[in-house]
Amino acid sequence: MVHAVALENWQRLHRFCSRCGERTVIAAAGHIRRCPACGAEHYPRTDPAVIMLVTDEEDRALLGRQVHWPEGRFSTLAGFVEPGESIEQSVIREVYEEAGVTVGEVEYVASQPWPFPYSLMLGFTARATSSEVSVDGEEIQEARWFSREDLRAAFESGEVLPPYGISIASRLIELWYGKPLPKPGPPA
Ligand SMILES: [Zn+2]
Repeated sequence: MVHAVALENWQRLHRFCSRCGERTVIAAAGHIRRCPACGAEHYPRTDPAVIMLVTDEEDRALLGRQVHWPEGRFSTLAGFVEPGESIEQSVIREVYEEAGVTVGEVEYVASQPWPFPYSLMLGFTARATSSEVSVDGEEIQEARWFSREDLRAAFESGEVLPPYGISIASRLIELWYGKPLPKPGPPA
């Protein structure tokens, strides 16, 4: 299903040749768009993005709230890999840009296709080497350190909404939490 969604998104947004501007045509059952003018073949793209659960020396987790998320929704930090960057460098840069926290050790955990429109989420854990939080205010509205006890209490009181269940963010947070996340409580 996600293969079809990703292909459809790519088809919809790549109708013209990026080399010469001519309208392209579908080939290879949708896996290629070919330019009749210059002969260029265009292939589906996948944009790598990193998503990371950052912990500090007290084993607290750093969760943030994006500017456009509903009040109370916190999740892992994330961002796109930039050209010329390793995915580990991307983790380090994104955490610093979004939350002002420096990280040292970075460890890959798992990936998840995220065809909205055509991303591949690469999940990491990362160890913070600083603890003071300073959000950028543009992408991230707020970021906080949570102990397991803080997070459980915040979920149960409804102060914090858990991440969406299908996302790899949930899995990363659960890996740190050590068991399935508690059920959300009533709205605060
Ligand atoms: Zn062309």
